[in-house]
Formats: sequence, C-alpha cells, structure tokens
Amino acid sequence: MIIRLILIVIAVLLGLVVVNWFWQFLKSAERGNRPSNAAPRSGEPMVQDPQCRTYLPKSAALTAEIAGRTHYFCGRSCAEKYREQAAVSGRS
Ligand SMILES: [Zn+2]
Repeated sequence: MIIRLILIVIAVLLGLVVVNWFWQFLKSAERGNRPSNAAPRSGEPMVQDPQCRTYLPKSAALTAEIAGRTHYFCGRSCAEKYREQAAVSGRS
C-alpha cells in the first residue's frame, strides 16, 4: 500500500517536471520569436492620453466620452483638464 503511494508521488513529480520543462520550452520559443519591447502584455492595444500625450495600455486607461468621442486618459485629472479645454474650444 505504501509502495503504491510512493509510486503515485513519483509519477506526479515526474509529471510536474515534464510540464515545467514544456512550459520553459514554450517561453523560450516565444522569447526567441518576438523582439524585446516594453509592452506589458502581448497584443494589447496602446492608447494615447490626448492631454499629457502618454501612451498606456487600453485596459489601464480611464475612458471618457467628450463631445461624442471616446478618449483615453492616464488619470482623472487629465480627463477633467481635457474636458475643460474641449468645452472652451467647442464654444469659440
Ligand atoms: Zn495624462
């Protein structure tokens, strides 16, 4: 009975080693194909904050609809400033 348990443990450990090896192989293959850039996640679209001109990933951006168009901002303060400027320029 105890031998069977030990065999199961060894099988599980071997499985983990194989999975780990395979994972490392996939990672190194991925690294080899892609040029090293600072993108946080692969394939994530980058958007530009029109207020401070910062580029940031879409998922991290704050969205605000101003004058019927969706804009992306790095933070609330930028969104507020941009909204004020849009209101001023829209009136003139
Ligand atoms: Zn900003």
